[in-house]
Amino acid sequence: RSKELGGRRVEVFAAHMHADVVRRLELAADLQRALIEQQFAIEYQPVVDLATSRVTSVEALVRWWRGSVFVPPEQFLGPAEDTGLIVPLSEWILREACREVAAWRASSWDIGLSLNLSARQITAPRFVETVEEALAESGLPASALTLEVIEEMLVEDAEETIKRLSELRALGVRLAIDDFGTGYASLAFLRQLPVDMIKIDPSFVAGLGRDDTLTLLTRTIVRLGHDLGLTVVAEGIERPEQLELLRKMGCTSGQGFLVARPMAARGVDSLMRTSLTV
Ligand code: C2E
Ligand code: MG
Ligand code: MG
Ligand code: MG
Repeated sequence: RSKELGGRRVEVFAAHMHADVVRRLELAADLQRALIEQQFAIEYQPVVDLATSRVTSVEALVRWWRGSVFVPPEQFLGPAEDTGLIVPLSEWILREACREVAAWRASSWDIGLSLNLSARQITAPRFVETVEEALAESGLPASALTLEVIEEMLVEDAEETIKRLSELRALGVRLAIDDFGTGYASLAFLRQLPVDMIKIDPSFVAGLGRDDTLTLLTRTIVRLGHDLGLTVVAEGIERPEQLELLRKMGCTSGQGFLVARPMAARGVDSLMRTSLTV
């Protein structure tokens, strides 16, 4: 009897696993099709200089409409990474975003572009060459491009990852640490990579003015960044009070729904035509 029960348990477990595997395979197939059918789009979120409110750059954020359903990046980037589809997808984002931002620079003023990198993209063959090509094709100067990385990217292939990012930096591309403060090795990471910028994780910014510890930590990160000669960007600004406090702390730049939401390219187009500030 116990054998029977055990057998059934295994069966239930297997059925559950099966559904999960099927879902993942379906997602992988849909991702592949989405790439071929160009279902992906890029939105751009303005980043402003906190002292002037001027838009200094935009961060490219990938968007996927799976039929009529919007799938958040956090749901498909993992599977895209696992299947390797992240490599062609990231290359498309890189080339497309460089081209669009270069066009905005030609028609209005000199904004920069921030791109999120994936671990697999960095270690893929010809990553450095692909970035060089994207810059050359679009005419975007290397100094206008910032590549954002998170600490988790150094978990595997740390040596190769650091080598490639250093090569890009030598070309004049800037490097940023995204979600700064959340990884277990934030400070070690600063020493290993030649970084230009840190982006303070929204979990700190969320507590500004409401939580003494988070406010103190944010102030400490801003000071640390400045002492190291880095640009400090605060992410996830949603309330006027946060903006005010970050300005007082002397934080360089800000990004968040209060400042501007991610927008389609035509939104940036009209922003460029109408004003330099948000
Ligand atoms: P991230 O790079 O830290 O990007 C910021 C995320 O915060 C974006 O979410 C943005 O829409 C959201 N956000 C901005 N301001 C606010 C705010 O005031 N409040 C709140 N609640 N959220 C805000 P999104 O677009 O869903 O992207 C999530 C993450 O997915 C990104 O985090 C990044 O790690 C990754 N990602 C997005 N696009 C790409 C891409 O093209 N390539 C790669 N490799 N990763 C990407
Ligand atoms: Mg980012
Ligand atoms: Mg972030
Ligand atoms: Mg993030």
